[in-house]
Amino acid sequence: MVVSVNLPQIGILAKGDMDTFWKIFNQRMELCKGALLTRYKLLKGTPAEMSPIHWRHGAIARLGTNETIDNLLEGGYATISLGYVGVYECVQAMLGVSHTTKEGEKFALEIVQAMKDKCDEWKKETGLGFGLYGTPAESLIYRFCRLDKENYGEIENVTDRMYYTNSYHVHVSEEIDAFSKLKFESQFHAISSGGCISYIEVPNMYNNLDAVKDVIRFIYDNVQYAEINTKSDICYDCGFTGEMQINEDLDWYCPNCNNSDKNKMQVLRRTCGLTK
Ligand SMILES: [Zn+2]
Repeated sequence: MVVSVNLPQIGILAKGDMDTFWKIFNQRMELCKGALLTRYKLLKGTPAEMSPIHWRHGAIARLGTNETIDNLLEGGYATISLGYVGVYECVQAMLGVSHTTKEGEKFALEIVQAMKDKCDEWKKETGLGFGLYGTPAESLIYRFCRLDKENYGEIENVTDRMYYTNSYHVHVSEEIDAFSKLKFESQFHAISSGGCISYIEVPNMYNNLDAVKDVIRFIYDNVQYAEINTKSDICYDCGFTGEMQINEDLDWYCPNCNNSDKNKMQVLRRTCGLTK
């Protein structure tokens, strides 16, 4: 169960005024809490028989025929997640700088910590497993941005792109090396303990495997959860693995042996996010 808060919108509405920001922030937190509790109430009373593989036969639990899942919704067995989108744009809307600047970083950490504090407070109050979750929001980032652009117009570095930035991530347009990005984002991992992911995009690293090892070591030492995104195409003619290229006719070909027979290659591209 996740409900995600649109942080940039709070920044837009507050127009740089901190008192207004925290006032609206608190109102939105109450809304999120209500929405999450509504979901919990909707699930309460669900018979285990509703999904036997999950609840009866061990995928999640082994409940009896006439039991409901109620006990498993409580006591921290199930999570109930507060998600968030656009820390970067929120900081831009409020301070006019990126959250990777000193000033921006301080405010960004305050915002994320404030959400975590709310989750802890609700957890204590209700006994339910509230957690702060860095939402992947692969379609929500478009929806939130589109709605805000319609309502508040085009605002530089806030609504002037087609999307908001996921959770606490560094903006994709920012020049930053892999290690600095992971180090910066790792600060939020500690707070966003209900779920978080950082990732870096890399080109063909075939000839620099030491760098790949360095990145993996760095992730191990600094980051809770991260991923390296790269191309992993395969040519079945020569055995090449890496990135297939595109020629002028927009056909894929193997850079190693020039094979362009699509039946003799595998090309994978990640195109997540766009739903419309
Ligand atoms: Zn080949």
